[in-house]
Amino acid sequence: MIVEELNVKEIATGVLSPMADMQHEQLLFCNDTKTGLRAIIAVHNTVLGPALGGTRMWPYRSEQEALTDVLRLSRGMTYKAAVSGLNLGGGKAVIIGDARTQKTEALLRRFGQFVNDLGGKYITAEDVGMTSRDMEYIHMSTDHVSGLPETMGGSGNPSPVTAFGTYMGMKASVQHVYGTDSLQGKKVLVQGCGSVGQHLVEYLVKEGAEVFVTDIFEDKIAETTSKYKATAVDPNNFYGMDMDIYAPCALGATLNDDTIPQLKCRVVSGAANNQLKDENIHAAALRDKGIAYAPDFVINAGGLINVYSELLGNYNREIAMNKAEHIYDVTLQIHKYAAEKGITSLEAAKAIAEKRIEDMAALKTPFSRNY
Ligand code: NAD
Repeated sequence: MIVEELNVKEIATGVLSPMADMQHEQLLFCNDTKTGLRAIIAVHNTVLGPALGGTRMWPYRSEQEALTDVLRLSRGMTYKAAVSGLNLGGGKAVIIGDARTQKTEALLRRFGQFVNDLGGKYITAEDVGMTSRDMEYIHMSTDHVSGLPETMGGSGNPSPVTAFGTYMGMKASVQHVYGTDSLQGKKVLVQGCGSVGQHLVEYLVKEGAEVFVTDIFEDKIAETTSKYKATAVDPNNFYGMDMDIYAPCALGATLNDDTIPQLKCRVVSGAANNQLKDENIHAAALRDKGIAYAPDFVINAGGLINVYSELLGNYNREIAMNKAEHIYDVTLQIHKYAAEKGITSLEAAKAIAEKRIEDMAALKTPFSRNY
């Protein structure tokens, strides 16, 4: 087809325009009929270093939904690494499918070959629907994997560090709102009793918070309430309940036009990625309601800090936990900056992240290609 024949509308609504809008560097679409693999790898920004971000396996209802998710998640990783002071860029991958029924060794190893094709520009790790055992299979096809099991010299499951960082960010947000960071007696709703949610519940219960939990799977709720002193609530009917802190630890977009008007809490602070359905509208809606929102990519950076520690070599869980404690200071700084400038906490976090990327890009000389 000659260029003149191309439909302009088609160009404007294709894959490249959302990439351009969100400033992505590269997308890799992966298809393998034999293993049933259908995946997308997104490299958002590599100014600070290689694009690191987990692989999510989820039964997306459409390819468009998967694409939107991977574009947003990878950009979030750029912000997360930058605001956390790590020398990493942002990337992410999604595999379309049900992790409970469609995940096989062959599919994971084929996916690893696609990761390898990117030559280290993208480093993968665990996300929703993946385990460190899965990372072992991917590692059979590529070295560009982090979050390997501890038995293989890796950092193992990052969720405990993510949960600890989230807990730190929650305390900093509580400090900002209440003038003390104690969670004693605070009513906290944890949505999602997965790897992160359950560890977070443990910290909250230990500190004397009154904890409520919910999940779409009853077995996950039962597992959590059998281990910790927490009350189960209906996953479809809790946003309007009496609570001080809402901690989204499931999937994204739970802060939206439906849910925000119902919220009675003063703090939103959880580990889930992309909690705001529309970043601009819903960050402002939370601020206007007087709710302190801890930006997700800031307070869920513990997992990234953990795998970054692994990449640096001589992994040590205690050092990773110490680094994740710093999330407290970063979160507090963001709330203060937002209040001073009269902007949302999300705008404040992005401004701090973007400034660092700009500053570091300016440092580069033609010979400083290695980070
Ligand atoms: P997980 O898969 O172990 O747990 C997610 C839980 O949420 C599951 O139990 C699932 O049943 C539940 N869930 C899904 N939809 C729900 C809904 N609508 N209502 C209630 N519960 C629902 O995942 P995880 O590793 O615990 O991660 C949780 C979130 O934190 C994800 O958004 C993930 O991207 C983010 N995150 C995780 C890490 C990490 O280290 N694991 C790091 C950064 C961010």
